[in-house]
Amino acid sequence: MKQYSLITIIFYLMGPALIIASHLGSLLVFITGLSVGAISWIVFLYLIRMLGTTAIYHRLLTHKSYQAPTPLLWIGCIIGASAGQMGPSWWKAHHMAHHLHVEQPLDPHSPYTPFQGWKGFYWSQGGWLLAPQFFPEKLPADVESDRVLQIIDRLHFVPTIALGALSYAMGGLEYLGAFFLSTTLLFHGVQTVNSLAHLFGEQPFITDDHSRNSGLVAFLTLGEGWHNLHHAFQSSSRHGITIRNNRVVYLVDPTFIFIKMLESLKLASKLRMPTEPELLSRARPQGSPHTNLSAALNTR
Ligand SMILES: [Zn+2]
Ligand SMILES: [Zn+2]
Repeated sequence: MKQYSLITIIFYLMGPALIIASHLGSLLVFITGLSVGAISWIVFLYLIRMLGTTAIYHRLLTHKSYQAPTPLLWIGCIIGASAGQMGPSWWKAHHMAHHLHVEQPLDPHSPYTPFQGWKGFYWSQGGWLLAPQFFPEKLPADVESDRVLQIIDRLHFVPTIALGALSYAMGGLEYLGAFFLSTTLLFHGVQTVNSLAHLFGEQPFITDDHSRNSGLVAFLTLGEGWHNLHHAFQSSSRHGITIRNNRVVYLVDPTFIFIKMLESLKLASKLRMPTEPELLSRARPQGSPHTNLSAALNTR
């Protein structure tokens, strides 16, 4: 277990504290009500911070599925941090552990271990953040070697609090409540990749885990719900891909559309993507059984 300094422990614990505060702060909207402007603010903050998480934290920083100028990575990580779901080192550390130990005891947020059923769902939907495993075993060396990313990581709560202050300045308690509600919805949206996308959906590709392609999760997370493809081809910049009748079919993947937009602006390059023969070589044979919840529980 990595030894953390007291200040890092305090800074890291600001993350769960802010998420709990967001849940409670969301209740403000029952007092203030929500105008069209405040609802638009909720949606805007959800979408831009979801993209910071999916396009920057996940597909760029963690999996290097495309290349981008360093300032874009830094700005994207500040937007990602403003989601209130921790900074780049912490995020990448846990996500790499998820891929490395998927559905095994060292997977930080599997719905199959250490708990199953409803408790497993609660664990993967956010309960894992309130356990000692919240502190990563090891922080990624590549992120830690970038001084700017390291500062964003430790001071991850500053963009979140700044966004809350901006919301309050824009529209008082109503917009502050809108900010809290957006942050809470965003938190649960992101966590559905850990929970629902390992429980329900299709498995068009052969993987040694329970990852699923889920249209619902893809809708909530701008394309990250095509999670079976992601576990099969982790470095693919496009997640929205499936197999139907032995043919490759492309699915709506807003994060990938955003990355293509960055590419057209010369802000992204070298997008990685499996070829169709590679995709077909990993296709699950038609009629072969999917891994399912009961089968998974029997193997644990
Ligand atoms: Zn996964
Ligand atoms: Zn991943």
